[in-house]
Amino acid sequence: MCIEGNVASLDNSAVDDLRASFRGELIRPGESGYEHHRKVWNGSIDRHPGLIARCTGVADVLAATRFARKHELLVAVRGGGHSFPGLSTCDDGLVIDLGPMKGIRVDPEARTARVQAGVEIGELDHEAQEFGLVAPAGIVSDTGVAGLTLGGGTGWVMRKFGLTIDNLRSVDLVTADGSYIKASEKENADLFWGVRGGGGNFGIVTEFEFQLHPVGPHVMAGPIFWLMEDASEVLRFYRDWVADCPDELMTIIGQRKAPALPALPAELVGKHVLAIVTCYAGPVEEGERVVQPLKALGSPVLDLCMPKPFVTHQQMFDASFPRGQWYYVRACDVDALNDDILEIMTEYGRRIESPITGLTLWQMGGAVSRVGMDETAFHGRDAGFAFNISGNSVSADGFEAERKWARDYWAALEPYHTSVYVNFLMQEGEERVRQAYGAAKYDRLKALKRRYDPTNFFRLNQNIRPD
Ligand SMILES: Cc1cc2nc3c(=O)[nH]c(=O)nc-3n(C[C@H](O)[C@H](O)[C@H](O)COP(=O)(O)OP(=O)(O)OC[C@H]3O[C@@H](n4cnc5c(N)ncnc54)[C@H](O)[C@@H]3O)c2cc1C
Repeated sequence: MCIEGNVASLDNSAVDDLRASFRGELIRPGESGYEHHRKVWNGSIDRHPGLIARCTGVADVLAATRFARKHELLVAVRGGGHSFPGLSTCDDGLVIDLGPMKGIRVDPEARTARVQAGVEIGELDHEAQEFGLVAPAGIVSDTGVAGLTLGGGTGWVMRKFGLTIDNLRSVDLVTADGSYIKASEKENADLFWGVRGGGGNFGIVTEFEFQLHPVGPHVMAGPIFWLMEDASEVLRFYRDWVADCPDELMTIIGQRKAPALPALPAELVGKHVLAIVTCYAGPVEEGERVVQPLKALGSPVLDLCMPKPFVTHQQMFDASFPRGQWYYVRACDVDALNDDILEIMTEYGRRIESPITGLTLWQMGGAVSRVGMDETAFHGRDAGFAFNISGNSVSADGFEAERKWARDYWAALEPYHTSVYVNFLMQEGEERVRQAYGAAKYDRLKALKRRYDPTNFFRLNQNIRPD
């Protein structure tokens, strides 16, 4: 087994053998579809796998796993391909691409959903909202449910219903030794603890079972914009106002140059703006009342916070994060927004250069913080806010300057860092992964890794090394 990701060559006859027991597509370099399927969401990642196995079901995942073991291949597992550091692709090895596994079965009476590993957030919303239900998950439609869930899963309704993992009832999973097992509170409970935050370290999840909740179909939601020059005043008000808001309210602060989108007036495009984006996971009239003080604050330049279908709100950020651009992220959690942090935000907000660079600052708390710290592998339950500082460019041109902006912003916040959300990490080394879990949970995850994946077969992830 090549532990460090060495090149492994694949001969044609071996691939033909796999083809005989594989229902999906097998794509090699130079073949039709290779260029499309080798690429991931982050355009700055440019890797060339030796084989892409597009799985249609559990049998394909098992066959691909056995094949990789037999031929000692480096393996990358892909759900939606949205990993910031591009962990779902590799050079020379095998990509086990779960993208074709799109099954979703909602049980409206039990309020549950069975969801296969290739499903994207928008697809799950579509099925669940048909019945007025939602699985708490992320805020951009084409993010993979799989990778998002395995890291924790934050989104618009988490303060009311918890993280995605807090609504996970069970998983089906293929382990490194090629077994197919179930994990839940009742079966393989240790593994179930680990997959709720521990990422893809323990195996390939082929199916998730979620608890759903009634939301919508209409919610009070959307962004209110102010010019960045008003940031100091707006942020101070926000900090005090949000401190005792109900769990139904979730907010994300955005800082960027106003994008050229149909919803934004032409005269605003390109100006530095601060947005507070809201979503009220409760009755619309109640939401209208709760957000009123924010709407009345200072001189907003645009107010798009209004009743709308929940699925429309879920798609709000889609246009801001298209596939193929160059993305770089620095992230950290903080306890609270103290005056110093607000000043740092005001300063770095003004310094944004690229029209696609920006901050998303997530309000945490509510139901997320009421699940016990040790109940799942996810660590940031007591975080007040989570920073996602994203320095982006359309291509390689200017990328370094954007990365520097993100790194500098993050470094200025360093005195206040607490934890970091594992799904917002780049490839930053073992110490950062340990920070994401805290020392005690990290040791427990290591022990679990030794049990379920002692050779580190699944290592293209925020890796928890077994040794
Ligand atoms: C535009 C954008 C928006 C985002 N919004 C949110 C958000 O709202 N909330 C949030 O919590 N996070 C968010 N994230 C972060 C996101 O959760 C992670 O990037 C996550 O890894 C994406 O999952 P994926 O399946 O698309 O990724 P992939 O790149 O396919 O996989 C990411 C990691 O998970 C592993 N993996 C994927 N599928 C499986 C599987 N079935 N079994 C085992 N391992 C697997 C991969 O091997 C890889 O290590 C966002 C990211 C982006 C780029």
